[in-house]
Amino acid sequence: MTPTASADESAVTKAQRELEAAGVRSVIGTVVNASGLTLAKSVPLARLKTFHEAGMGAAPVWHVFTIDGGIAFTDSITPVGDLRLRIDIAGLRVLSGGRAWAPASLFEQDGTASPACARGLLGDVNGSLEEAGYNALVGHELEFFLVAPDDSALEDAPWVPYGATGLLDRSDFIDDLLTALNRAGVPMEQLHAEYGRNQFEFSLPPAPPVQAADTAVLAKIIVGIVARANGLRASFSPLPFAGTVGNGAHQHLSLHKDGLPLFSGGSGPHGIRAEGGAAIGGIIAGLPDVQGFLTGSVLSGSRLAPGTWSGAYLCWGLENREASVRFLNEGKSNPHGANVEVKIVDPSSNVYLASAAILALALDGIRNGITLPPEIPGDPARLSDDERRRANVRLLANSPAAIIDTLDTSRLARGLLGDAIVDATVAVRRYEQRISADLPPDELANRFRLAWSI
Ligand code: GLU
Ligand code: MG
Repeated sequence: MTPTASADESAVTKAQRELEAAGVRSVIGTVVNASGLTLAKSVPLARLKTFHEAGMGAAPVWHVFTIDGGIAFTDSITPVGDLRLRIDIAGLRVLSGGRAWAPASLFEQDGTASPACARGLLGDVNGSLEEAGYNALVGHELEFFLVAPDDSALEDAPWVPYGATGLLDRSDFIDDLLTALNRAGVPMEQLHAEYGRNQFEFSLPPAPPVQAADTAVLAKIIVGIVARANGLRASFSPLPFAGTVGNGAHQHLSLHKDGLPLFSGGSGPHGIRAEGGAAIGGIIAGLPDVQGFLTGSVLSGSRLAPGTWSGAYLCWGLENREASVRFLNEGKSNPHGANVEVKIVDPSSNVYLASAAILALALDGIRNGITLPPEIPGDPARLSDDERRRANVRLLANSPAAIIDTLDTSRLARGLLGDAIVDATVAVRRYEQRISADLPPDELANRFRLAWSI
């Protein structure tokens, strides 16, 4: 036995002992698929080691289960075959009710990574960044609407956007949420009542990309548990109710090289260093190509409207909430340091894949020395068509068909993230487009309000 194997074995034994002492009886391992659905297997605690080493079986169609419970078969994803769902012991966390949770990745039976495993891809992309000498941190924001258990809107009560009212009206839910997050070791940074009626948001601190995405999944699970316990459900749809604001799943990114931040301390605008500028340039240049990973679902496009702070305009700017890439400067009021927030991401995306796409674009920008475009300092909606044309600012695509067609034919996306994940994503999203072709916007929002909830 190699020293690594025995060290690993003792880590599993130790984890099992600790979980037993914490009253855990079962362990849930989750993966997120191309539709943005969180799928899971659960084992009795005694099977922890097997879940970690051999894994639990999962049909290859797990990659392409759709939001209506269907399957979007592809040429290579058929009813034949078997994948292994293996949990990452380092990510184990205690939930309520005698349960523990761990993030999982999908492997082939021979132990190689499944090419359409989003968590594996994010690990690979981060590995490429590290090999090139860069360290990335990602910070997630979670927005959701509280709804009734039957997924209807909660009774109308006074709602003040960003108000204290919502915090008081939902104080039991919020208190339980904080307790459950603390228990699972998830550090909440802040929570507020959002613009939308019964919409809330909380943010998580920056962490290495895979760990950050794992924590975002865990936080979403905990929201689901706590909402149920309070006689509620939480909608993570990009557009829970037609005709109003939607839910974003913004991701903040910072990059360091040799311990120095790339987004501050340099001679570019706002102190951005040359490589930091190239990273932002790469993100802006490639965003339309990977939109299918970030805003690919059948409800994503309707959220991406100007005036909703969803970053519908393809540009960047300091603290610009209408820009798809908002820049946050370093300074006393920003303890995490300078970072960029990719605002277009929504919660129907696969959180691992969205991070993988953003980080891959940033690295591509650095490798190819892509130029940082001029900053857009104000609301692009206030510019005339002509001014927008001259400043090279445009609205991102908002048609689900156009977004997915672009992804399908993108050599950039296929080159950076591989055919397997592009093909799976295109398959599930085109399936969504087919089943919703005849649905008016409000019925579409109603039908899939809880599709991405856990
Ligand atoms: N709800 C908005 C969105 O869909 C974001 C609002 C905010 O800036 O937090 O992205
Ligand atoms: Mg928000």
